[in-house]
Amino acid sequence: MNIMNINSIVWFRQDLRINDNPAFYNAAINSNVFPIYIYESDIPKKFKIGAAQQWWLHHALDDLNKSLDNNLFLAKGNAIENILKICKEYKISEIYLNKCYEPWRIKQETDLNEALESQKINIHVYNGSLLWNPFKIKKDDGSPYKVFTPFYRKGCLNQKAPRETFEIPNIKYVKVPKTSINDLELLPQKSWYKKLDTYWDVSESGAHKRLKEFINDGLSDYKNGRNFPSKKNVSKLSPYLHFGQISPHIIWNQISKLSEDENINHFKSELGWREFSYYLLLNNSSIKEKNIQTKFDHFPWEKNEENFNKWKKGITGVPIVDAGMRELWETGYIHNRVRMIVGSFLVKNLLLDWRLGEEWFNECLVDADNASNSASWQWIAGCGADAAPYFRIFNPVMQGMKFDENGDYTKKFVPELRSLPNKYLFCPWECPNDILIDLNIKLGKDYPYPIVDLKESREKALKAFASLKNEK
Ligand code: FAD
Repeated sequence: MNIMNINSIVWFRQDLRINDNPAFYNAAINSNVFPIYIYESDIPKKFKIGAAQQWWLHHALDDLNKSLDNNLFLAKGNAIENILKICKEYKISEIYLNKCYEPWRIKQETDLNEALESQKINIHVYNGSLLWNPFKIKKDDGSPYKVFTPFYRKGCLNQKAPRETFEIPNIKYVKVPKTSINDLELLPQKSWYKKLDTYWDVSESGAHKRLKEFINDGLSDYKNGRNFPSKKNVSKLSPYLHFGQISPHIIWNQISKLSEDENINHFKSELGWREFSYYLLLNNSSIKEKNIQTKFDHFPWEKNEENFNKWKKGITGVPIVDAGMRELWETGYIHNRVRMIVGSFLVKNLLLDWRLGEEWFNECLVDADNASNSASWQWIAGCGADAAPYFRIFNPVMQGMKFDENGDYTKKFVPELRSLPNKYLFCPWECPNDILIDLNIKLGKDYPYPIVDLKESREKALKAFASLKNEK
């Protein structure tokens, strides 16, 4: 059949790019393309994106629309209903999409297949967002991996290398009615999000620029430098990866062209952690709300709204924790080491349920991801697969001294402590009174006293977690 007579939908979801997009590429070489994005307003609340990501999505769609010469059709509501309507009106015979791995999306794909069964419409599904197909990764005995290292080394690296990337195809569009990004009403009503504009270039070219900058300036000391929040050794590619503005294949292939060393291998293994998070999500469909290790189901989490609110606002009185929580509020991002510190403080020092932290991160992170966020929170709490052992409680004072030695990161986000000598920056409550008076810092007024005693809360947590040790 002449391709001029074939009309296809390309259903963009978490693949908001034109480079290396297998669904888009294959649709374009075989047919006329009707590109769509549906903002699904009828999904369960727990799967909805938070306010920071609504801001990101607005700009990402705007950018994709420009790349598609203003041919992106934007709709809102139920995805399957919208697709069926378009199929009927535009004589669509093929639908192209890249696989998503969240349980509700997998079910949706099955529902779509069923809805189209009687209509002679073919669905073509590709893997656009993971380096290896998670459905194919199994241990020798057929069961899923539960530990990262064998998953990555045996399950991933032992397989064929990730595929080559796809080029941008020549495209012929179906004549698509004009829609406006503003109709999706993604931008929050209050203008707090404007500060995010100063930190991020939310575009596909922005993602490629970020990768280039990271390769030139960060990668060569990644393995060590990634631990220090004031250094520029991390890529900050996570939101672009989440929304699919860059594919992991582009990153992997570009980095593989460089001569291999420990930094490159370490960076690749972090991409491996992303694959592992999706793998866990696929094999534990309730990962967002249920402990992977069920012995945690009876864990005595505390209920303390006041402490939770202080953690959210970055006024716990523990400087590196407050710096992290304020970085999140200010930029929509937190450095990985600090995510671990603030996470450990919430679940271990405050004994608050990891799901509270997961929800708040989901609301505020521009890279919030159902796979990586849930898996990482379960890791921190100790209830996940291959999780941190329960006795690993980060000491936020030592962490600050070790990983923010000069205090650059902490002072940036907690400026009220800027004049404190580094010796006391991470424990201002230990600073002698005469120094505080000299510096005109009044604890309890200019900066809070810590909301918990770090030593006592650590011991309390150890007891609570140890009580689970022998449970299955
Ligand atoms: P880089 O160090 O440059 O790493 C490159 C890429 O590898 C990242 O963009 C990311 O895609 C992947 N990656 C790195 N570390 C991890 C990891 N531990 N787990 C999974 N993937 C990883 N990551 C998210 O993408 N979304 C989240 O919602 C999220 N929530 C987290 C919550 C907690 C409590 C913790 C401890 C970690 C969380 N992470 C999450 C993982 C990690 O912190 C971020 O991926 C990383 O900080 C993103 O910054 P980057 O792009 O500069 O990372």
